[in-house]
Amino acid sequence: MKTTYTFVPSPNHVYPDHPERPARFNILESRLKSFDAELLQTKPATREEIAYVHHPKLVDALERVCREQAPGIIDYAPTYVTQTSFEDALLAAGGVITCTRAVWRGEANSAFAIVRPPGHHAEPNRAMGFCIFNNVAIAACDLIAQGAERVAIIDYDAHHGNGTQAAFLNEERIAFLSAHQYQRGFYPGTGWIDEVPHAKKRIVNVPLPARAGDKVYEQVAERIFLPFVASFKPQMILISVGFDAHWNDPITMLGLSTAGYFMLAQKVIALAEQYCEGKIGFVLEGGYDPTNVANGAEAVFVAATGRGAPDANDPNPYEEPDCESRIEEIRSWHGF
Ligand SMILES: [Zn+2]
Repeated sequence: MKTTYTFVPSPNHVYPDHPERPARFNILESRLKSFDAELLQTKPATREEIAYVHHPKLVDALERVCREQAPGIIDYAPTYVTQTSFEDALLAAGGVITCTRAVWRGEANSAFAIVRPPGHHAEPNRAMGFCIFNNVAIAACDLIAQGAERVAIIDYDAHHGNGTQAAFLNEERIAFLSAHQYQRGFYPGTGWIDEVPHAKKRIVNVPLPARAGDKVYEQVAERIFLPFVASFKPQMILISVGFDAHWNDPITMLGLSTAGYFMLAQKVIALAEQYCEGKIGFVLEGGYDPTNVANGAEAVFVAATGRGAPDANDPNPYEEPDCESRIEEIRSWHGF
C-alpha cells in the first residue's frame, strides 16, 4: 500500500488575524515524516489546467490584483490575496494534480495533497471563501483529460463545496457529494437537499445540523456515500477533506473527532477498493485548529497505509442530534 503526498504550505499567503493561515500546518509539518508516505515534488498548475474550471478572465484578474493591489481582501468571507497568492494558488492546484496523476497512473495506491490556499468554494467565475482556484475540481478535470471517464468527488469539509458543485452542474463525467453543516447564517448558505434537481444521484447534498458527529457521519457514509458511489461507478474517487468538521474547530459547530475522521477515511478507501481498484486521492480543504489538522492528517495516512489507528483520543463531548429523518429524506430525494 504505497501512499504519497504533496506539501504546499504557502508561507507568504498570510493575512493578519485570518484563520486560513500558514500556522494551520505548524504541528502537522514536523509529523509528516512519521506517516510512512512518500513526498512527491510538485510544480505549478499551468494556465491551461486552471482553465479546465476557471474563466481565463478571472485568472488574469486575480494575477493583476496580486501584482498591483495586494495585500487586500477580494470577497466578504473574507478571502485575501498577497503578492505571492497567485503563484501559491497555482502551486496548490499543481500539488493536487501531482497526487491524482500518481494514483491514476498506478504509481501510488493513494495520495494526500496537503495544500493551501484551499479550493472548494472557488467557482468558475469567482474566487471566494478563502479559496483562489478550485484545486479538487481542476484535478478531477485533469483526470478526465488523462482518459478517465468517470470521477467522483466526496467533500466532507464542514462547509458546502459550492465551487465544486458549480463547476460540474452539467458535467456528466464528474459526480459530486457534499456533506456539510447547514443552518441560517452558516457559510456559504448553499447545499440544501433539493438544490440541483436535474442531477439527482450525481450531485448530492447532505446538509447536517450543528453537532452532527461520528455516529451521524457513519450513517451518512453507509447510507448515502455508498449508494452514490455504487450508482455512479467512478474510476477514481477524490476526497475534499476539511478538518473543520472537528468538534472544537474555531469557526464551525460540527462534531467529528479524530476517530471519526479515521472511520470516514477507512469507509471511502473501502469504497474505492470496491468500485475503482482502490484509486483514491485526498485533497485538503479547511481546518483551522493546527492540532486537529495534524491529527486529522494522521488519521488519513494511517487509514491509507493500513497501519493501526491514530494516536489522538479526542471524543466529541457534545450530544449528537438525531439525523435519521434527514438521511431518509436525502435517500428518497435521490432514489437511493
Ligand atoms: Zn470548511
